[in-house]
Amino acid sequence: MKVEGRYVRSFTVRSMRSLIERKMFTNNGMRFVWNNWVPLKVNFLAWRVTLDRLPTTMDLRRRIVPVQSVECKFCHAENETATHLFISCSFAQQVWEFIASWCKVNSLFALELKDLVVMQDRCRGSVRWKKAVLSLTQIALWVMWKNRNDVTFSKKHANMARIKEEIRTYGFLWVKNRAKCND
Ligand SMILES: [Zn+2]
Repeated sequence: MKVEGRYVRSFTVRSMRSLIERKMFTNNGMRFVWNNWVPLKVNFLAWRVTLDRLPTTMDLRRRIVPVQSVECKFCHAENETATHLFISCSFAQQVWEFIASWCKVNSLFALELKDLVVMQDRCRGSVRWKKAVLSLTQIALWVMWKNRNDVTFSKKHANMARIKEEIRTYGFLWVKNRAKCND
């Protein structure tokens, strides 16, 4: 693409996927698998979660950025780290129980951030089924972070019903269309 007489590389999903796939090998040897059933922004957020590269309030404080409060905006019981927000927070636990129930799997659990994108591997089912569970997991991460930002910056109240509804809506909207399935 030519802009003001200079050639500029255009941004494409393929170029971003390529970047993520090249960078992913820095993630403690863990391979981040690109998921074409969810949008770029969801892949990108999930990738940053597994690398612990989100600007949580504890992360900002560690980098000496002034923050008013470091407590989790969902439960107000612990400091906001990515591990707390997506794994040990009571809100996160409810989200994983909701998805496990929706997908009719026994349980979804993670001990570390990088486990969040391989939880489906412990479930029984076909490759397509596991990809559907992974897709909902990644959408859940994106919805949780989006709601965390709404609570932090727009002073909305944390609402589990809204989080579940958004996961359900985006799950149907994105996965059903991209996976070309009706079930
Ligand atoms: Zn919490």
